[in-house]
Amino acid sequence: MCRYERNILIEKIGKKGQDKLCNSRVLVCGAGGLGSCVIFNLASLGVGNIGIVDNDKVELTNFNRQYIHKMSTLGKDKVYSAKLAINEYNPEINVISHNIWLNNQNVQEYFSMYDLIIDCFDNYYSKFMLSDAVVRTDKTLIHGGVEEFMGQVCVIRKNTACLACFIPELYNCPHDIKIKKGIISPVVSTIASIQSMEAFKIITGIGSILENTLLMYNGLNQEFKKLHIKKNVKCPSCAYIN
Ligand SMILES: [Zn+2]
Repeated sequence: MCRYERNILIEKIGKKGQDKLCNSRVLVCGAGGLGSCVIFNLASLGVGNIGIVDNDKVELTNFNRQYIHKMSTLGKDKVYSAKLAINEYNPEINVISHNIWLNNQNVQEYFSMYDLIIDCFDNYYSKFMLSDAVVRTDKTLIHGGVEEFMGQVCVIRKNTACLACFIPELYNCPHDIKIKKGIISPVVSTIASIQSMEAFKIITGIGSILENTLLMYNGLNQEFKKLHIKKNVKCPSCAYIN
């Protein structure tokens, strides 16, 4: 517990909150830009069990924003590289690598192993697949997205607005279309840190979370905006559930 002394010193966390963090199970979907920052944040908070799902390999073009990976793991599986980094940083954390393509057929099986899911994927197909899956369970999903100088975060549950509620025009996007726009590291780490803060609050039960609220960040003028979102009665994903 010496490692977490400064966490525990915060009265609202204390030993009880730290125990919740140490006993929690979080699945990080994607070990790229957002994922690498989220994984480090979770490990420093002391989240005891971190699942990482990704089937990509470490490439040199990742290095403008993915600092969990090192030159020594170039060309290796991202889940292996991420696990290696966390084992060295905090060996008390149980890191579970899932070197698979998460899809509609297997997503519920992986969700069932975790309390909380964090969307760090880089393509709309996978982001909608997570959102679709979570509104059909009792799990919670922390969505995050980044593009150029902008980013966004929201929390999705069965009874909240889902991703397709507020961007229905991108629903049914083919699975091989990646978000190929440029991105810089400070925007990625800002959004990843907000996702990590949401995870912290959900696990410990402290504070209010971004349910039915889309937090939007513009790095160029350092502006945060909160947009109220609500369930869309014509949503192609969640309108006909229940
Ligand atoms: Zn919806």
